[in-house]
Amino acid sequence: MVDVSRAKTAALQVRQLSAEWLVTLRAHPRRLAAGVGSALLLSSAGAYALVEAQPQLPPRANVATVIDAGVQGQTAAIADADLHYAQSTMVRRQDTVQQLLRRLGVTDPAAVKQLGADARVRALVSAGATPEPVRALVNAQGELLQLSATLPLPSGAEATPVWRELQVRPAADGALEVSTTERPMQTRTRLASVSVRGALTTALSQSGVPAPIGAQLVKVFAPQTDLRRTLRKGDQVALVYEMQTLDGREVRSGRLLAAEIRSRGITRQAVWFASSGSASGAYYTPAGQGMEKAWASSPLPGARVTSPFGMRLHPVKGRREMHEGVDFSAHIGTPVPSVADGRVKFAGVQSGYGNVIKIDHPGGFETVYAHLSSIAVKPGQTVSEGQLIGKTGNSGTSTGPHLHFEFHAAGRLVDPLRMASYVPQGRPLPPGEKAAFYAATAVMRTQLAQAAGSGDAIRLARAD
Ligand SMILES: [Zn+2]
Repeated sequence: MVDVSRAKTAALQVRQLSAEWLVTLRAHPRRLAAGVGSALLLSSAGAYALVEAQPQLPPRANVATVIDAGVQGQTAAIADADLHYAQSTMVRRQDTVQQLLRRLGVTDPAAVKQLGADARVRALVSAGATPEPVRALVNAQGELLQLSATLPLPSGAEATPVWRELQVRPAADGALEVSTTERPMQTRTRLASVSVRGALTTALSQSGVPAPIGAQLVKVFAPQTDLRRTLRKGDQVALVYEMQTLDGREVRSGRLLAAEIRSRGITRQAVWFASSGSASGAYYTPAGQGMEKAWASSPLPGARVTSPFGMRLHPVKGRREMHEGVDFSAHIGTPVPSVADGRVKFAGVQSGYGNVIKIDHPGGFETVYAHLSSIAVKPGQTVSEGQLIGKTGNSGTSTGPHLHFEFHAAGRLVDPLRMASYVPQGRPLPPGEKAAFYAATAVMRTQLAQAAGSGDAIRLARAD
């Protein structure tokens, strides 16, 4: 039975083979003599192999013609001395249009002058270094034949990614024609799971994670830990991020949406969220605690403490009394930032304090900055964390240039060096945004669990 069946199959294949041969032979009549006799004598399998092999037999004359055409073209090009050089370079920090054109080999003074004065070309260098190359075609005389580049996005345009392309070509009148095109891009979400072996950046790039996403990752966790230093072999990084696409092709990275770091038993997570009506978003823990520190650890981090908080012999009055703050050593004119968001309660001169600023902060906290040389804020003004409010000095009852800094919690004086244990760790969600936060970040949290690659969806869902 088996043999009969095989024989039928073989017969069928030979008929199919014959039909194919007819097609092949009609198309290539000169091959007829070469293979037809032997093919019919071969087994079906062998015949198939032969049919498939046939198109590989090259007509030699055609190959020779192709080579001749190429050589002729090159000879003509050399004779005309009309060589075109394809050049490419990156926009560097503080580049000028002239420097950029020089690196591209454009030396034609008219082109350098025209493009240097063109606002669209200047936009190419005004935003600083860009990750996409500028490409140009230049001839041996240093004349520009073509230039194409991606223009940097205007700042704040992240929500609607647009591909802006710059094109420069010679126009009929001999000048250069500059044009820009804008096309909306699509956004695609990508998940990545990275196992750290050596340096974090190496591990990320080996996993195909774009460098700007890696930079965002480091920045998001910077208030808690420096990932570039603390991650060790075997630590896990899971990421959810956007890629912007044009015609289905990924052209640039977008925003880091969520990240999870598992390092030596500690899991840290962050999700991105923009509250309604807010142009910019921020990163939060899945429970809604801001990743950014709401309070600086000190108005002058790293400055030497010259006099601590508590009872002391007053250096000017000569009697024991309470030192209500901490004195930081600082040269006159050192910028003083507010340690947290708040509202200026007092800004002016007050007896022994000299020039002093008092700031009320949400949660019943107050900070005081005294002996200033100058004041940059007014009473009633809102200030943000890190905002310059004044400069250090030696005004009021003071024995030398320094900053006297006080911290009050619920109306009570507290040692400013213990401030961190009283104030909120992260910037909290805006009031009334909790429900919106959970709704908006639900998908990201699920995707993060997928990226982390385990049954963590349940754990994440319960983390709220
Ligand atoms: Zn003091």
